[in-house]
Amino acid sequence: MKRIIFELPKYIVADAGYGSEPNYDDVLNVRERIPLITYNQYRKEKTKKYKNDPFKTANWEYDEVTDSFICPNNRRLNYVYDSNRTDKYGFKRTFKVYECEDCSDCPLRSSCTKAAEGKNRKLFYNEKWEYQKQYVRKKLSNEKTGEIYGKRKIDVEPVFGFLKANLGFTRMSVRGKPKVHNELGFALMAVNLRKYSAINNENGTFSSDELRKRLCLSFLIITTFFIHLRLVMSQPLF
Ligand code: SF4
Repeated sequence: MKRIIFELPKYIVADAGYGSEPNYDDVLNVRERIPLITYNQYRKEKTKKYKNDPFKTANWEYDEVTDSFICPNNRRLNYVYDSNRTDKYGFKRTFKVYECEDCSDCPLRSSCTKAAEGKNRKLFYNEKWEYQKQYVRKKLSNEKTGEIYGKRKIDVEPVFGFLKANLGFTRMSVRGKPKVHNELGFALMAVNLRKYSAINNENGTFSSDELRKRLCLSFLIITTFFIHLRLVMSQPLF
């Protein structure tokens, strides 16, 4: 978008599927923008059930002085080593590994860990990811930035809804980037024409009955045009 359309705005808004460590890293450090993007567990973390679950490590007490966590059985998980992992895209993550001092006779063991008999519970803590999540939580709970995030549902989702439910645009009928670019361009043009009809009446030129008729008519024309265009586009040229 930055290369083709415009300078990126101050806030980058996207839905939960995009809330990942590489994406937060990119938005914050490479593009120097503020991510308003939830992560997968964001909603779950806010539930009572999650907050009251003693086996969720997010609910475990952390002791800064000894750099250790306290488990539900009041035993300590001490820091033992750092573990570095590289995913299939080459992104590197560092985890601080904590290990419980002794899980052997713990009555809570079956609810707490799947570690093999004789092994202690380990906790893998990604400091950077935890910091990023905290940063995003703070931004989303802030009134101003929370409101910006909330607009995504109103501004963005209805476009997809209209494309899919009304225009039946659930998949591309062509292959190859330039053709897909054109087909999507036509689809978005149809959406914009519909919006344009509605905006044109913002000053109340038409009565609600007239407006409904006009919108129905423009919707009919746009849909017919769009469906036929897709039929033509999906035919081979020779
Ligand atoms: S299994 Fe280990 S870490 Fe889990 S509650 Fe028991 S002692 Fe604590």
